[in-house]
Amino acid sequence: MTGHFAALDRAGFPAFEPGTVWLVGAGPGAPGLISLLGYYALGQADIIVYDALVNDALLDLANPRAARLYAGKRGGKPSEKQADITLKLIELAEAGKRVLRLKGGDPMMFGRGAEEAMALAARGIGFRIVPGISSGLGGLAYAGIPVTHRDTNHAVIFLTGHDESGGVPAAVDWAAVANAAPVIVMYMAVKHLPSIAEQLLAAGRSPDDRLAVVCNAARPDQYVVDATLGTVAAIIDIVFAPAIVVLGPVSGFREALDWYAGALRDNSLG
Ligand code: SAH
Repeated sequence: MTGHFAALDRAGFPAFEPGTVWLVGAGPGAPGLISLLGYYALGQADIIVYDALVNDALLDLANPRAARLYAGKRGGKPSEKQADITLKLIELAEAGKRVLRLKGGDPMMFGRGAEEAMALAARGIGFRIVPGISSGLGGLAYAGIPVTHRDTNHAVIFLTGHDESGGVPAAVDWAAVANAAPVIVMYMAVKHLPSIAEQLLAAGRSPDDRLAVVCNAARPDQYVVDATLGTVAAIIDIVFAPAIVVLGPVSGFREALDWYAGALRDNSLG
């Protein structure tokens, strides 16, 4: 499968052994953002167990002989479904398959990759973790938003806007978070955006702080909505998941750096 990449053939990929599981990050959306190891795994796998956020166009790059198993959690009870998925991975590996567990973004960033890996480790099943470009980095890059810039911030916080209870995470210390870094990148935050904004305002963040929401990042239907912390109520009806919310001055760079536009979006790989 790497025949037209002569240097890759020489480099040598690690063997994808039968009976093992590779947990692979698919990247934020555009198929071209998967890593070389991930691409190799798509060509080697016997079965691909993939999530709702994995772009179908990426699956089209897989070996046509590979079976595909959708393991999205939409519409089910998340905790039960997660247990089912983990058991399925174990069952497939124990049946001697090369199992590719493909997850959106990076498997270890709000992706439950560690939970699955822990279960495999406990069972003695061999596994490899292939990192991916998380949507909180790559998705923002596709919107022309850097997560850091020397003029604006020397720290960045990544957080999730909801937890297993379905509500705003109680374990997040909102007052501390609000003051710890100028830039806060939020996953799964669209649903609770008004209450998150309320918490951050109560902790002293300014209602004039810039905020941008990048929806369908790194996909042809990507769109970005600009607001401020004080005006989130006005945008809540036009932002839909999957979306990355970024609070802080970095979204201002978009005015100059918004490169993913027009004809560029017609490239199927990215
Ligand atoms: N492991 C993933 C995150 C999974 S949690 C990663 O590293 O990106 C799911 C959340 O990721 C979504 O609610 C959304 O906030 C974000 N997300 C994933 N893909 C996205 C995309 N293409 N555009 C915008 N947000 C995305």
